[in-house]
Amino acid sequence: MLNITHFQEKISTLLPKIELRMNEPMSRHTSFRIGGPVEVMAFPKSRDELAEILKVSALLDTKAVILGAGTNILAPDEGMHGLVICLKDCLDGMQRLDQNRIYVAAGVTMTRAAVFAAGLGLSGLEFAHGIPGTVGGGVYMNAGAYGGEICQVCESVDVMSMDGTVCTLTGDQMGFSYRHSILEDTPGIVLGAVFSLAEKTEAEIRAVMQDLMNRRKTSQPLDLPSAGSAFKRPVGGYAAALIDQSGLKGFRVGGAAVSEKHAGFVVNMGGASAADVKTLLKQVSDKVFENSGIRLEPEVRIW
Ligand SMILES: Cc1cc2nc3c(=O)[nH]c(=O)nc-3n(C[C@H](O)[C@H](O)[C@H](O)COP(=O)(O)OP(=O)(O)OC[C@H]3O[C@@H](n4cnc5c(N)ncnc54)[C@H](O)[C@@H]3O)c2cc1C
Repeated sequence: MLNITHFQEKISTLLPKIELRMNEPMSRHTSFRIGGPVEVMAFPKSRDELAEILKVSALLDTKAVILGAGTNILAPDEGMHGLVICLKDCLDGMQRLDQNRIYVAAGVTMTRAAVFAAGLGLSGLEFAHGIPGTVGGGVYMNAGAYGGEICQVCESVDVMSMDGTVCTLTGDQMGFSYRHSILEDTPGIVLGAVFSLAEKTEAEIRAVMQDLMNRRKTSQPLDLPSAGSAFKRPVGGYAAALIDQSGLKGFRVGGAAVSEKHAGFVVNMGGASAADVKTLLKQVSDKVFENSGIRLEPEVRIW
């Protein structure tokens, strides 16, 4: 029988109308397919529900952790106490605001946003087609690929503070830099973003998206669970090349391995634990440092 904690009882009483799951395995919500049970996972369907959850989490003195599509997270094997708020497919919706601008809610995947923009003949989000995360996660970490980055097209972001108040930050105020935004330093939840795009024909946009997808399929191990590039691009080199030059393609710790197809990816070969991945990341980083003098830092967020 499941042991229902005091916190679970309290939160169910205080949030009777909100979808809550108790002891929900994080492995169901991460692209690595790794992670033990979360005490409570909440699925708000609107801004109001999200604000209500934050109010209750403050009342219960619990820090709420935000989850998008879980495609850049390594979640702990032992599980997590407290509250995780899952926004993927929850904060939903996209709309055209005027000729060149669209609004996309945080829970929409970047691929859906790119396809929506393409359908309107709006160019700028082609790079995001194929990044498996949500717009919220993409804005939070300024996701990018093939020369494109969220910061190039993001005009403004609606942000909810942890006390439930909402403000709009301009792209400049978001403090974007390589795989970073101000929200990593000052906690806040992305509710949605306005993207400023350029007119092109739908056929041109779709051709670029198709080309980028083909490049992904050719170079990345998309058939195995991973969290994308495991390391940030270091100054003075490329993580994948440095790992390859250190002879680490296929290097394995337990069920985790450096991909044979793309040395920048760590893949779950089956049954990998978070501990396997963490050990592997450390050993790869140490070996590359010994070999090149360059220290690799994980891009994947370790919870
Ligand atoms: C096969 C594969 C390919 C990938 N390719 C790329 C690529 O080309 N380029 C690239 O940049 N990334 C890539 N990634 C990594 C990943 O998709 C991106 O980092 C993405 O932006 C993460 O979004 P997410 O919704 O999955 O966020 P999550 O992994 O759920 O969360 C990541 C972080 O963002 C925070 N967060 C999530 N949503 C919000 C929100 N609404 N408000 C505030 N904080 C939030 C979380 O708390 C967490 O700290 C790839 C991953 C995979 C598995």
